[in-house]
Amino acid sequence: MNYDLTPQQLELQKRVREFADTVVAPAAYQYDTERRLPMEIIAQMGEMGLFGLPFPAEYGGGGGTYADLCLAVEALARVDQSIAVTLEAGVGLGIMPIFRYGTEEQKRRWLPDLLAGRALAGFGLTEANAGSDAAGTETTAVLEGDGEDAVWVINGTKQFITNSGTPITSVVTITAVTGQSTRPDGSIKKELSSILVPTDTPGFTAEPSYDKVGWHTSDTHPLTLTDVRVPAANLLGERGRGYANFLRILDEGRIAFAALCAGAAEGCFDEALRYAKQRTVFGHPIGENQYVAFKIANMQARAHTAHLTWMDAAKKMVAEMPFKMEASIAKMVTSNAAMDNARDATQVWGGYGFMNENAVARHYRDSKILEIGEGTTEVQLMIITRELGLSA
Ligand SMILES: Cc1cc2nc3c(=O)[nH]c(=O)nc-3n(C[C@H](O)[C@H](O)[C@H](O)COP(=O)(O)OP(=O)(O)OC[C@H]3O[C@@H](n4cnc5c(N)ncnc54)[C@H](O)[C@@H]3O)c2cc1C
Repeated sequence: MNYDLTPQQLELQKRVREFADTVVAPAAYQYDTERRLPMEIIAQMGEMGLFGLPFPAEYGGGGGTYADLCLAVEALARVDQSIAVTLEAGVGLGIMPIFRYGTEEQKRRWLPDLLAGRALAGFGLTEANAGSDAAGTETTAVLEGDGEDAVWVINGTKQFITNSGTPITSVVTITAVTGQSTRPDGSIKKELSSILVPTDTPGFTAEPSYDKVGWHTSDTHPLTLTDVRVPAANLLGERGRGYANFLRILDEGRIAFAALCAGAAEGCFDEALRYAKQRTVFGHPIGENQYVAFKIANMQARAHTAHLTWMDAAKKMVAEMPFKMEASIAKMVTSNAAMDNARDATQVWGGYGFMNENAVARHYRDSKILEIGEGTTEVQLMIITRELGLSA
């Protein structure tokens, strides 16, 4: 595998890093305190073409690859994980299902605004009894009527759905039980399907935001669906293929999520190195203490490894090689790296690292979710174990 970036990717990386350093970073503390997603920054990201990076020009995309999206996510996460996850989930979970499984009509309806960043989409999989075990889905969708008048009537609740309640959220893909069959052993097999729910549909409610430990700027809501009626044509992909389809979406999504983690790990390293050179204690910079220097060397090793692991998974995905295990390894390794670097960076910053105005404090609060979201560390271990042919 060649891990060199192309000239276009280097240019993209430079452009997004500059935007992150000059626009996102200076405002990050304010938005974190206000706990709101800055729509003006999302609009700028839309104008920069970030939401359309891996999609073809015919839908308004940039014609790049999934690795390009990951580079942009990584560059943003160095300074602000909430902004980075808005892009990562917006594309990886919001747009990708429509792009991969949508009919031409569905793509033409939804993609142009989503790719331009004028609209955002969510992906509603998680429920109170369906997190790590997505087969626990209880939301139901019942087909009523025939022909062109047929509608899905959807009832249920979803938990923790990113980008689902912003002023520009136009659609959420939800997973629902659309039928069931009995296996030979008598147990029930649920038929899971994905359905597009426009957010202005009566009965769809994005409930008030959560009070989260971190990712304060990212938009996250529980959703309630009460007798939500959408046309039968809003089925996304084949009926009954919902489970298989979202597993593919989650596999890909883990690579972009890993890039987010790698960016966070790098941001923590940068902050620790800078501070260790300037902070003088006992008459000399703290970085001259071998214990501090080794801590920072370890942080660099983690950040470097994190970058390489998502690149490896992304390169394989783009080359249409098997990438499931690599994506899980990347998600697990990079989220651990981010959490470890956030803890170490805060330690290097001492008491100042515990003050929310400093980026390391935000990374410290933000990084825990990296080991939980888009499949916990334990779920990644289960996937890797199964890929190795062992039972988990
Ligand atoms: C901020 C945020 C944003 C999110 N965004 C989205 C989104 O946009 N869309 C969406 O659908 N979901 C979203 N989620 C949900 C997220 O993906 C889930 O929280 C996650 O998958 C874990 O599910 P759970 O919380 O139900 O934990 P559980 O499944 O209840 O797990 C609890 C603990 O048990 C462990 N565990 C469970 N089973 C096993 C086992 N067999 N072996 C070993 N350990 C096990 C888990 O690893 C975990 O540590 C988001 C969550 C958060 C917090």
